[in-house]
Amino acid sequence: MLATLPRASLSRRRFLVGSSALAVGAGLAGPSLVRPALAQARQPSDAAWRHLADKLSGPVLRADSFDLAQIARPNNLRYVGNLPDGIALCRSAEDVATAIGWCRENNNFPLIVQSAGHSYAGYSMRKGGLMINLLLMRASSLGDGTVTVAGGMRNQDLYGLLEPKNLAITHGRCPTVGAAGFLLGGGIGFNMRAHGLACDQLAASEIVTADGKVRTLNPQATDLDGDLYWASRGGGGGNFGINTSFTLKTFPAEALTVFELTWTAATRDPARVAAELIPALEEAPIELALGTRMSLGAPHPVHDKHRRVTINLIGQLRGSPKRLDDLLARAYAVEKPQQHMIWGDAPYWAAQKLLEEAGLPGYFQERSVFVGPKRAKEATLATFHHLLQWPGTSVGADLRFFQTGGAMNETEPKATAFVHRKTEWIMDVGLNWSATDSRLSVDANRIWQDRFYADLRRFSTGGAYQNFIDPSLTDWRAAYYGENLKRLEDIKKRADPERVFNFPQAI
Ligand SMILES: Cc1cc2nc3c(=O)[nH]c(=O)nc-3n(C[C@H](O)[C@H](O)[C@H](O)COP(=O)(O)OP(=O)(O)OC[C@H]3O[C@@H](n4cnc5c(N)ncnc54)[C@H](O)[C@@H]3O)c2cc1C
Repeated sequence: MLATLPRASLSRRRFLVGSSALAVGAGLAGPSLVRPALAQARQPSDAAWRHLADKLSGPVLRADSFDLAQIARPNNLRYVGNLPDGIALCRSAEDVATAIGWCRENNNFPLIVQSAGHSYAGYSMRKGGLMINLLLMRASSLGDGTVTVAGGMRNQDLYGLLEPKNLAITHGRCPTVGAAGFLLGGGIGFNMRAHGLACDQLAASEIVTADGKVRTLNPQATDLDGDLYWASRGGGGGNFGINTSFTLKTFPAEALTVFELTWTAATRDPARVAAELIPALEEAPIELALGTRMSLGAPHPVHDKHRRVTINLIGQLRGSPKRLDDLLARAYAVEKPQQHMIWGDAPYWAAQKLLEEAGLPGYFQERSVFVGPKRAKEATLATFHHLLQWPGTSVGADLRFFQTGGAMNETEPKATAFVHRKTEWIMDVGLNWSATDSRLSVDANRIWQDRFYADLRRFSTGGAYQNFIDPSLTDWRAAYYGENLKRLEDIKKRADPERVFNFPQAI
């Protein structure tokens, strides 16, 4: 059965917003928002730039090229003005090694690597220096139960490769996210409770390190290469080198029930509905392979006349639509969703298109926490009032829940660099705005978000998701990496002693 009803879900990209970084409110030079100053680099000569262009098989763009700003465009438009002096559009690992070597030869000219530019904090952008961009590295191949993709692969290319073979991996909802950043920071998606994180499926990777060496990383690798394989599974992008390919184990894509349920602003007691939904989802039998994302949408202080929180729940499970109804019965007993779309026995990849998030560029800040067993309900009830105090922007704000646990928790915290293994949820305070919001308004909203987040953290494991990288987090080292931090720091010292790979939250 497929019943489509109007969608009221709060998507981060509810509106397509303007792209000018210079617009009101967009630059956000407020004190808490300024990125650490980056050292002024000595410019390579024109001859040196020509030399780089001669050596590289891909093109090199300079600051006066119109294409430079188009190619270096971040998903988070707050960082659209952080443009490099040039971009090396690499076609191969050898090009990447050449570009790194060129920076080192030119007085350690700063570099930054970009795959698809979706870093929440714009950490694949920098003012000045060379951007090593992997946009052109999109080769892919299928092996025996594996798929290998080059470092510039987008999620959508990867899905296009897997769909005809009816194979899957753990993947996200946004087609334009880069496989590189997604995998290196862990990679969460609706399949993780059944099959583990995307980084758990990483069978091998190729990386170019600061010394220009092209290394093959896999479970058999020893010494630094073995450590870099471990670090490539959750250690975060941009820290150890430039990963130029990834090989992932695949699994058969199975038919599923997919759903989107919405409790609109007409819902009388959304806090109680949410308080019943959380344990209902936590108690789902693991064989259902449930994967969900819930969003509690903050009402706009002026435009939402009911001033009530909305709830949007999307996800997938192995059971039938009836199984889903049974599972959510305790929440339905409080109030049923006013809008629902449920598709039973849906072919896997067709179903994913319904769950997709467009991920259009916009202005945003997200602040995440990992939450351990049986804490999410308490956290939600204790912090719910913040949603009702949202100052309001032209886009939206919400409290998002990504259900973790299941197979993801079967791996020991130290077995890969991804440490957050004893958790049940990622809870995330999301704030979105547009170029039309004034700086004053954005500042007020950021203060609201910080207060909400501080309150929420009381219920967390202390962890935050390194792929929802958060420039406001002060204790990010411990929050992203926990007990794995020491080993990661040791690997960093050996792989990149001169910190060629650097950004404000680099290990
Ligand atoms: C709309 C949207 C939806 C998202 N959905 C999900 C989701 O469902 N699940 C999830 O887990 N995450 C999700 N994310 C978060 C996403 O995984 C991270 O933002 C990720 O880092 C983006 O990777 P990228 O390659 O696109 O970004 P980039 O900005 O290009 O890179 C991110 C970081 O990795 C570094 N890097 C890039 N390429 C390489 C490379 N080849 N080798 C080494 N370092 C590299 C960059 O320098 C930067 O520090 C989403 C993000 C957005 C904006």
